[in-house]
Amino acid sequence: MKKRFGIDIDGTVTCPASIIPYINKDFKVNITLDDVKEYDLTHVVDRTEEEFADWFLKSEPMIYAESPLAKGAKEVLKKWETAHELFFISARGPHLLEITKEWFLKNALHFNHIDLLGTHNKIEAAKNYQVDIFFEDKHDNAVMLHEECHIPVILFDTPYNREPIPDGVIRVNTWSEASEWVDNWLKQQ
Ligand SMILES: [Mg+2]
Repeated sequence: MKKRFGIDIDGTVTCPASIIPYINKDFKVNITLDDVKEYDLTHVVDRTEEEFADWFLKSEPMIYAESPLAKGAKEVLKKWETAHELFFISARGPHLLEITKEWFLKNALHFNHIDLLGTHNKIEAAKNYQVDIFFEDKHDNAVMLHEECHIPVILFDTPYNREPIPDGVIRVNTWSEASEWVDNWLKQQ
């Protein structure tokens, strides 16, 4: 049965460490993903929130153009693209749509739709598009999407999302684990 998948982009389809080399270079620090214990990255650099936000705004296009894929993501997405609909729903700003589409093209990834919301609140989009399942790396998003939309949410484990999760949010370590869970879920539909 054909399903509509809602999929976050950054830290889910792209490697969660994509931004780290840029932070290390521009802020002259030497952090790894393990140092990132909160989703908001301001805590890893010695800057005010505003200074970091300014840097991020300037650096985003470059980071997104060059982001490596998360390990195993491509194989699984290629498998799904023929049988299901892939709706990518991201907090990136709408002005980044061209760069985002080019990245999908460059990585030979198919999409049915890309929506760049410019906000972390994905509930409305997930409801409007009537997605059947969601894939996320941001803890509060995952929990809210599950609770508000009553759909399963796959949460890709990272050092910054290790808070407790309710039933219905499924923590996975890899894309192949996600694929396995989805296969079982599809059988029960
Ligand atoms: Mg994300």
